[in-house]
Amino acid sequence: MKIKSIEPIAVSLPMKKPVQMAGETVTRADNVLVRVESDTGVVGWGEAASAPTMTGETVAGMMAAVSHMAPALLGRAADDFAGASAAMNALIYGNTGAKAAIEIALHDLVGRGTGCPLHVLLGGKVRDRMPVLAVVGSEDAIADMREAQARYAAGHRAFKIKVGLASAAVDAARTRSLCTALKALSRNDGVPCLVSADANQGYGLDEALHFVQDVDDCGLDFFEQPVDAHDLEGMARVAAAAQQRGLQVGADEGIHSSADIARHHQEQAAHGVSLKAIKLGGLRALLEASRLCERLGLKVNISCKTGESSIASAAAIHVAAVAPAIAWGLTVTSPGLAEDVTATPVGVEAGHVTVPQGCGLGVAVDEYRVRRSAQDFKRVA
Ligand SMILES: [Mg+2]
Repeated sequence: MKIKSIEPIAVSLPMKKPVQMAGETVTRADNVLVRVESDTGVVGWGEAASAPTMTGETVAGMMAAVSHMAPALLGRAADDFAGASAAMNALIYGNTGAKAAIEIALHDLVGRGTGCPLHVLLGGKVRDRMPVLAVVGSEDAIADMREAQARYAAGHRAFKIKVGLASAAVDAARTRSLCTALKALSRNDGVPCLVSADANQGYGLDEALHFVQDVDDCGLDFFEQPVDAHDLEGMARVAAAAQQRGLQVGADEGIHSSADIARHHQEQAAHGVSLKAIKLGGLRALLEASRLCERLGLKVNISCKTGESSIASAAAIHVAAVAPAIAWGLTVTSPGLAEDVTATPVGVEAGHVTVPQGCGLGVAVDEYRVRRSAQDFKRVA
């Protein structure tokens, strides 16, 4: 089976409600879908969210990058994933989101062409049902508490509180009350509940240390990307202070490669990492990164970027099912969309997802929905 065509499609999908984080508020999901077709007429789909503050990629940039790389891939064997990644890397530096979208589409294509679910192509699943992180964060402490309790009642046992929005003292107070309430519910039920806070680089070092001191013993499990992605020394200072209080520190925006993971480990700048296909350039690199973390003793969260549809969400679920460990859970983002590109979106049932059945990604992309949401990418530049 050979690659016959690669088409990038810019889409803009409405969110159910805006997602607020430090440095960014996502009101619409501006993503690039990639439609790959084989010479045998099989179609596969991939996706990457635009993420200017994470990967440096805009929709227009990814559209251009996919078009730039596509000619080198046409006519190649669709199942030569390593060869495709090498060809893409030889052509253009960075652009990991655009590369991931193509690589995901190739996996979907080959899975569909061979009748194999994606997790089988990646080595076979070791888990089938996984807890999904409920993301809470609106700067309105009362609304957040109501939402966290409702999502706990709905079955969620993993939470991420977005911080870095207000002062460290105000964020810490909100985090403390949410975490204390969730941990009390979990103690009552005798079921563990993971609670994390994500600053998305929103603090300076002093603020981050202040936050760590203020959340103190509330039982928060990990504190993600407290300071700037490039500030490994700052990360190490926060990690050391956190460790004294039984809190762990995670890196997200600071991780774009296996080398970044090794560096964070070596500098003791993180106890774990958040891994995304758009940062690492594809599913194979994501899975390899999770294996490196296992060897280094780092905790792993596997995640989609806010606003990614059932295409990228299904891809993340398949990788998470194969990864050696996901102690810090899985974040799927398609439930946050008011409109998805499949008729039957990836479903979160009682706070958990199960690996989609069927070949490839196991989700049926509705091309009518895709075309309806398609944007003239020159206008969204
Ligand atoms: Mg994060």
